[in-house]
Amino acid sequence: MDYDEIVAVGFTPVDDDLYREIILDHYRNPRHKQALPAADRTVAANNPLCGDEIDLMLQLDGEGIRAVAFEGRGCSISQASASMLCEAVTGMRIGDAEALAERFRAMLQGSSADPGDIGDLEALQGVRAYPVRVKCATLAWNALLEALHQDNAEEQRDST
Ligand code: ZN
Repeated sequence: MDYDEIVAVGFTPVDDDLYREIILDHYRNPRHKQALPAADRTVAANNPLCGDEIDLMLQLDGEGIRAVAFEGRGCSISQASASMLCEAVTGMRIGDAEALAERFRAMLQGSSADPGDIGDLEALQGVRAYPVRVKCATLAWNALLEALHQDNAEEQRDST
């Protein structure tokens, strides 16, 4: 593994051992990392600063999120954050998922010291100290908000 790979993949900028373990576990065993053929919304997001790429796919069910999945590659922070996102918002109401995404972004961008109860997502709090990596952590969440805000008219309804 060369130096660039260590920086991109092996380096997890979190001091707390437990939190680092949670992040690496999601990175090595990502949840919901698969295609979602019947997706209602798909958003491709990338973070050129780090080389992270994420395709986020959603199945909606009225006011709820029935299923979420992602595909992609990139650093441990970006991929772990996407995995945690899928686990957190599956089955949530759309409005609650939006609120969670806003709280998560506020936590990382420093505008809120206390994000409330966000479960395992708290593990990513330490990324706040590394501004360059904040984009890695928020990539999937920005994609989620974009997907939820997509106008219905833009949805692709291809029945083939
Ligand atoms: Zn990254």
